[in-house]
Amino acid sequence: MMEEKELILKLRKELSQHNHNYYVLDKPSISDFEFDIKLKQLQALELSNPEMYDSSSPTLRVGGEVTKNFETLVHAQRMYSLDNSYSKEDLMDWEIRLRKMVDGPIKYTCELKYDGASISLTYENGMLIQALTRGDGTQGDNVTANIKTIKSVPLKLQGDYPVKFEIRGEIVLPFDGFKALNEEKIAAGEDPYKNPRNTASGSLKLQDSAEVAKRPLECLLYSVVGESTGIETQFDNLEKARSWGFKVPKVASLTDSIEGVLEFVNYWDLHRHDLPYETDGIVVKVNSLFQQAELGFTAKAPRWAMAYKFKAEQVSTILEHISYQVGRTGAITPVANLQPVELAGTIVKRASLHNADQIEKLDVRIGDWVYVEKGGEIIPKIMGVDLGRRSLNSSKTVYISSCPECETPLVRKEGEAQHYCPNDMGCSPQIIGRIQHYISRKALDIEGLGGETVALLVNEGLIHDYADLYDLTTDQIIHLDRMAEKSADNLVSGVQASKDIPFERVLFGLGIRYVGETVAKKLAKHYKSIQALSEASFEDLETVDEIGIKIAESVIEFFKIDVNIRMVSRLILCGVQLELSEEALSNQTTQLQGLRFVVSGVFETVSRDELKVLIDSNGGKVVSSISAKTSFVVAGSNMGPSKRTKADSLKVPIISEMEFLEML
Ligand code: AMP
Ligand code: ZN
Repeated sequence: MMEEKELILKLRKELSQHNHNYYVLDKPSISDFEFDIKLKQLQALELSNPEMYDSSSPTLRVGGEVTKNFETLVHAQRMYSLDNSYSKEDLMDWEIRLRKMVDGPIKYTCELKYDGASISLTYENGMLIQALTRGDGTQGDNVTANIKTIKSVPLKLQGDYPVKFEIRGEIVLPFDGFKALNEEKIAAGEDPYKNPRNTASGSLKLQDSAEVAKRPLECLLYSVVGESTGIETQFDNLEKARSWGFKVPKVASLTDSIEGVLEFVNYWDLHRHDLPYETDGIVVKVNSLFQQAELGFTAKAPRWAMAYKFKAEQVSTILEHISYQVGRTGAITPVANLQPVELAGTIVKRASLHNADQIEKLDVRIGDWVYVEKGGEIIPKIMGVDLGRRSLNSSKTVYISSCPECETPLVRKEGEAQHYCPNDMGCSPQIIGRIQHYISRKALDIEGLGGETVALLVNEGLIHDYADLYDLTTDQIIHLDRMAEKSADNLVSGVQASKDIPFERVLFGLGIRYVGETVAKKLAKHYKSIQALSEASFEDLETVDEIGIKIAESVIEFFKIDVNIRMVSRLILCGVQLELSEEALSNQTTQLQGLRFVVSGVFETVSRDELKVLIDSNGGKVVSSISAKTSFVVAGSNMGPSKRTKADSLKVPIISEMEFLEML
């Protein structure tokens, strides 16, 4: 049998290679399932062999380290911006300037300008040691723990890399991942993220690296900066970086004239929408590093590089009418219905108008010619009105004052941009939306029942809320349109099977506003039953890890409403899981009941997350900052000195992970 130590090394190598194949080369070489098993095996082995710690282990990809305040550090080499150009003339002028400053022929590397958040990575002896954001260019924030969770960032390099160097790139959130994240947000009744770029840069500054690990970010590299890397051109730089294991998009191209650059521009202006991520232009760089050194920098940007910005794609078309959609939470969204027009390779018929303020601000009117643009957002937006083409008898848009579905007067809460239909019990899109959410995959996952059937069942008057699902009989539904006997049976048995779905998913399915998947898990774990949750006070809810004012208020609101209480009772009577199962409970104790812990630093035998789970499942509370109420600070290595001083001054005992584990 292989020694554990050898096995650890073997698994690390194997898993790093699979990661590389999947995330850098886009060529998966193992199933997700097998990968998970091997990763779990490695995690277990590392746990029992703490002396084998390695900061480049693939197990660190899942995150866990929490950064309260990002440390600001000076860039070894400044991160410059780029000069911009918008036309062929701009580029020609640039070339004339270049010719005056360097001798000999000039070649250019053309690359895409990835639209995300810039990052500078430092490697020493092939290991990632630091990742800084651009900041103001001179100093940036240390986001290393977060960057390590991004799977296309190599933690350990291959090949003939220099001993020490910096490499720069862009953290992007590809469209697919952006869409998936937003589907989750919407399922939780939250506002979706605006665009991939802001979401990517926001992700870098999340405090909990485990949260970053969940976001499908990618790191695209474009420039190696180092003392002496032995490389002579930008193009070779890119190739080399690729060979060391970095994700460097293959679209870069080498040309020896501005005409060649323009060809590249024209091609990508047309084809950029086929790319999996956002780009906002291209970047042209003088290829020879020797010439680059001759050219140097202005106060703001390198003289040897130039960005060429694509024109935002915009078309104008006629606004035919405005319709109003009612969401599951009652939120009203105005939608512009347009005369169909082609934009960025697709036919656009609708655009978002966001809310009443937006309509007011743009003063859009029915019949107007409007400018429609497609940015990073999936749904195009209206940028403005072509007033020159406005007809004389147009009239100002009056926002609806009652629900388009149920005619209830709309309300708008202080500080909120959206109008709401308050008739949540009688307004059909809200009723249908709630049931659709209840049966969705991450909630009760009812097999044999889809969104359209839900609408049909509601419209036929067979169900009014999700509790009604459990009373449905085959006889009732077999007469419905397109419903065969078999599918009617499937539906009924699917509903019955949902009684085995664990509490946390049922809680998510209830559709309490702001209670998404993760929050539902936290609440289920903490309160253990719907009964306890419904009796929790606002103050008590707020002390639960990660539960803020907004969520606490929303939970209280939900249980204030009689109809909800009755519905939950009916679910309980039907046998739906509204408390933690015996099994889930048996992993829990009350040993740490009433104690509050702050966890800080890096640990050896258990991860930070595991520590938190241990505290949680034994009845303790994890809090984020030290106060007089803190019972213990569990300190690993690298705990910040300010925390230590604070704990000392408040006389909060500091214990090691071993001392903590002995408490259990
Ligand atoms: P700007 O922020 O408009 O001054 O543009 C400079 C930024 O463009 C840099 O900080 C990089 O983050 C980003 N960028 C994206 N793609 C590239 C690329 N291929 N080469 C250089 N910079 C790039
Ligand atoms: Zn309504």
